[in-house]
Amino acid sequence: MSIRPAIIGNWKMNGSGRDVKLVRRFADFLDKQKIVADVMICPPSTLIDRLGEAIKGAKLKIGAQNCHIEPSGAFTGDVSVLMLKDAGAKAVIVGHSERRTEYGETDKQVCQKAQAVIGQGLQAIICLGETRQQFNKGQTLQVVGRQLRGSLPSTATPQNTLIAYEPVWAIGSGRTPKPADIIRTHAHLRKTLLKLHPKSGAKFRILYGGSVSAANAADILALENVNGALVGGASLSFKDFTAILKSF
Ligand code: PEP
Repeated sequence: MSIRPAIIGNWKMNGSGRDVKLVRRFADFLDKQKIVADVMICPPSTLIDRLGEAIKGAKLKIGAQNCHIEPSGAFTGDVSVLMLKDAGAKAVIVGHSERRTEYGETDKQVCQKAQAVIGQGLQAIICLGETRQQFNKGQTLQVVGRQLRGSLPSTATPQNTLIAYEPVWAIGSGRTPKPADIIRTHAHLRKTLLKLHPKSGAKFRILYGGSVSAANAADILALENVNGALVGGASLSFKDFTAILKSF
């Protein structure tokens, strides 16, 4: 079955008004080239509105990196899905390992966030992945299976939800799992999705994330059950990100 791939750039806590130009260049590139993929940049919340305005009508979409589960209220410093949607976000990354580690986000909270995102008609990009220690102990499949079961809301469909497998030890490290390991983990996620959603499990996009670069993207994107990539560092560079987009 052919699944339309997705390439999503996660800018993390990087970017400023100066990067409007960069995103315009991404958008122009995408509009001119025949790239058969959904492409999105997830900047910090402060830039969603500006970047969205700057590329209005382009194929490139703008997403967010996190959200609160409530639509409004006394939650100082937080941003709701409703607000992100109002600013122009089309999707929200939830459960990134940096949030799970730094803020102790649990599968239950990630599931609630995904539910809030879907409830507002946006796409949820649910991240999962094992730590180096869990990888070394051979616990990868057990860990990601548990995270997927705990983080995926019952309202998830292949249209409103994307899964991103990101080994924690691969993020920002320049290291990636062996192709056979990626294939094995994505196959396990596919099997779990089919168990949870027998009718549509085959259609969910499962992205790989963790040190995806211009040099390794083509090999990773060609692997079975890899339906795109979540890209951190390389999505801040025109040369690197467009090289990844060209690697299909
Ligand atoms: C990420 O933060 O989601 C990520 C994949 O980062 P990097 O590509 O820099 O490893």
